[in-house]
Formats: sequence, C-alpha cells, structure tokens
Amino acid sequence: MESINPASDVLTDMLKFVCISDTHGLTDPTCIPDGDVLLHAGDFTLRGTWKQVDEFNNFLGQLPHKWKVVIAGNHDICMQSKKKLGPMVYSMLTRHMEAKGYKQCKDMLTNCIYLQDEIVDICGIKIYGSPWSIQYRGYDAFQLPEGDHMKMKWDKIPDDVDILMTHGPPYGICDITKRGLHAGCLDLLSSIQTRIKPKVHVFGHIHEGYGKYNNGVTEFINAAICTVNYRPTNKPFIFYMKIPKQREVTPHCSPVSITSEKREVTLNTKSSYCDTTCDSDLEDSTDATKDLTTFRPVLNDIHGERDLNPYDDICTGLLVTKL
Ligand SMILES: [Zn+2]
Repeated sequence: MESINPASDVLTDMLKFVCISDTHGLTDPTCIPDGDVLLHAGDFTLRGTWKQVDEFNNFLGQLPHKWKVVIAGNHDICMQSKKKLGPMVYSMLTRHMEAKGYKQCKDMLTNCIYLQDEIVDICGIKIYGSPWSIQYRGYDAFQLPEGDHMKMKWDKIPDDVDILMTHGPPYGICDITKRGLHAGCLDLLSSIQTRIKPKVHVFGHIHEGYGKYNNGVTEFINAAICTVNYRPTNKPFIFYMKIPKQREVTPHCSPVSITSEKREVTLNTKSSYCDTTCDSDLEDSTDATKDLTTFRPVLNDIHGERDLNPYDDICTGLLVTKL
C-alpha cells in the first residue's frame, strides 16, 4: 500500500498506524505492513547490545513508514544510562559487548523518533512514549518497583495524549503471564482510566498477553510480535486515526517536535472500572477511505483472527480501587 501523505493524498484526514512490540532482533522488513506511522513499544533487541541496536536501526531504515516512533523495553539495556543501571548490570554488559555509552546508543537510532518519557506531535496527533515496566528481576533496563516510583513516571504523562506507548501493560489488560499472574501496573491503569484517557494505548512486554481490548474509551493493544518462546510470529496491529481538524487544511504536516513533560499532576483517586464487555463489536475495517466523523481510531488486526491466548480473560471485567 502506498503511504498516505496527509498533504496530497485523497486520505488527507487519516493516518494509518502499524503497531509492533517485542521484536527482539527481528530483521525481516517484509513482516511489517506499510503505513504512515510505525509504533514500536520496546524490546527491539534480545540482549540490549549496541550491535543489536545498530541492526534494529538498519531494519527500521528498510521500512517505508513516514514516521517511526520507538520506545525501549527492559531488554534494551544499553539504552539506559550507566548510572541508573547500576554497576552490576553494566559490568554484565561489558562482558557481552563493547560498551558504548547510553548517549551513543540513543544516537544510533537515526531512523526513528525515539521517545523516553517524551511526547511527539505528528500532524496534530500527540504520542507519548515511556519505557518503564514493573521490576521482576534485578538486571533489566527501565524497571522500577511498583508504587510511588512507577507513579512518578506516569504522572509525567500529559492529560491530552492521543496515543500512549509504554513497554509494560496496565494491570489487568492483556497482561497475564503463562503462569496466570497479572504483570501489569495498577498505577498505570489508574492513570489511564482516571486522567489520561488516551484513544489508544500500545504496549508489549508480556508476550503471552498479545491481543487487544476496548474499555469504551481506550483501545488497548498488546502488540508483542514474539511469542512467549521468542518466535516472531504474531501479526502487527493496525488502526487509523483521523488528523485533528485544525491540521487538515495545512498544506504540509509540521515538522515533528519532541518535548519532555515534567509537570506534576494530581490523580483522581476515586474507584474506576474496566468495562465488562469484549471488543467483538470493534469496527473491523481495512477500508481506509471510510469517512470517520469522529477522532476515534478504527482498529483492525490485519490477520483477521487474532491468536487468543488461554489467559485472555480480561473480558470478565475488573474492578480497580485506588485508595
Ligand atoms: Zn519482550
């Protein structure tokens, strides 16, 4: 498919997003469908070496998407600074690779927009990316214990984000491990439901949680391409999002701008609910010319039937109470 150019194509009011995550060294560009914006929710390497970052950047360079937005995950170790990783992890890294500094690794990603607790505006659509996930072993990157530390990261996310990208899932949504445990972050879920309310939340991390869910406000997408056995066989997800009205008449999309958000936000601490309905009524459409009257995404898993995992039981509903 030809990439949509918002300035000249017939599809002037819509962008096609292709969502992937946890590719762990996948280097075959033919696996990825064309679109306007590629979103990668982290774990693009297997062991986080600079060589793997370089390979990933080459892989990105072969993809046709106009914009490629990437965050890191817990495997992408060299993307985190030496100081924050701690000496033990960094000594492990130096055993496995020629240790380049964090800044150098970040600079190697020349073929994408790399977000680390940052926001980017693409044609008026605001995308925020954050690499953090809940700590479960001591030597991974961008991991923190659940609670205040994680909450501080989510508090940085602005209220008006359209698309949220995090590596880790929110609690209770496409987050169940093969052992049957929820691995998602409760504070992230609370922030999303009570304050941020993005139109789409893309994440990964829990490979076996691959799938999607809609709570009536947000499309949640666990886009992990690799299975629990690290085989890159899951298909990317696709959605279309309307370009906000004020930008439709702009002859060319503005240059991409990235900013870090540091403002403090006070959370609403009331109870919130996940909807108890499944997402079977999602508008399933490959028809990009469809005239959407709202700024609501249309989700379409290109493989038609998604690979449901045995723990995909989120549709049974969830009550979240934050005190
Ligand atoms: Zn992964």
